Amino acid sequence: MAGPDPESAIAAGRQLHARGIGATFDLLGEDVLDREAAVRSAEANKQLLRRIPVEIERNISIKLTMFGLNISGEFCRENVAGLLDTAREVGGFVRIDMEGSKHTQRTLDLFHRLRETYDNVGIVLQAYLHRTPADVKEAIARGDRVRLCKGAYREPPEVAHQDMEHIRKAYRELAHQLLDHGSYPAIATHDEILVRDTLGYASVQKIPPDRFEFQMLYGLRPRRWDELVAAGHRVRVYVPYGTHWFPYFYRRLRERRENIYFVLRNLLGG
Ligand SMILES: Cc1cc2nc3c(=O)[nH]c(=O)nc-3n(C[C@H](O)[C@H](O)[C@H](O)COP(=O)(O)OP(=O)(O)OC[C@H]3O[C@@H](n4cnc5c(N)ncnc54)[C@H](O)[C@@H]3O)c2cc1C
Repeated sequence: MAGPDPESAIAAGRQLHARGIGATFDLLGEDVLDREAAVRSAEANKQLLRRIPVEIERNISIKLTMFGLNISGEFCRENVAGLLDTAREVGGFVRIDMEGSKHTQRTLDLFHRLRETYDNVGIVLQAYLHRTPADVKEAIARGDRVRLCKGAYREPPEVAHQDMEHIRKAYRELAHQLLDHGSYPAIATHDEILVRDTLGYASVQKIPPDRFEFQMLYGLRPRRWDELVAAGHRVRVYVPYGTHWFPYFYRRLRERRENIYFVLRNLLGG
């Protein structure tokens, strides 16, 4: 985590920029059930978009449950549309993170409605969900910008693959489709097997490095970011900030025991 406020996030963004690495900024927060809090979240994100210095790309990630998805779909859509207007005004891009499976369809429906008016918005699809091959196909047909990740939420077997072998296989196949036919896909993983698979596939298929980007989380595998940039690839780091950090760290801890050091280092500010 970059810190509690936008200044710390922007400082992290500047350091990344100096290393040739992009950023997507995430004001931490989710599961908002109060309209005023959801509007405040949108305002805070608008301010962030305006404050990111021009030389750093104005790229942010949001969660729809922070913008009121659980209050009302229409309210949430209006709230996000306001943010996308600001993003358009300042040349920014907004990525809609994907949350747990009970939100997937509503998140996609809302995203599709927003895409009727905006082209500065992208979506996240999770390779572990059984439904995702169909969603990737649809995203390719629609020309939507997709970030592909494995998926961070605990899901039942009828909804998602459970073991790493199947998740990796699904990820690999979907990544190949997005690399071949997608609109500037983001390959979001720290998994070296998948990073190498992407590099190998792009090289064999002659997909130039400016047609896709790698994405990783702030604090995880920083040496790898530099190696990829040195090899001519695009890398963007997800920079979370704010005070509502518990669910984010909890998901990182569930993913890998080793991440406990990452979590402690962040909590202790070291
Ligand atoms: C930019 C970004 C955005 C994301 N957005 C979303 C989202 O919107 N919705 C969502 O559900 N999930 C999101 N995720 C989380 C994602 O779904 C996974 O839960 C998370 O990335 C862990 O899976 P992994 O593929 O990175 O590696 P893992 O499955 O955690 O690890 C697999 C292998 O990767 C290597 N590895 C992993 N971590 C490290 C490390 N710290 N150091 C060294 N090697 C390591 C190791 O070889 C390890 O065995 C996002 C992830 C990223 C990177």
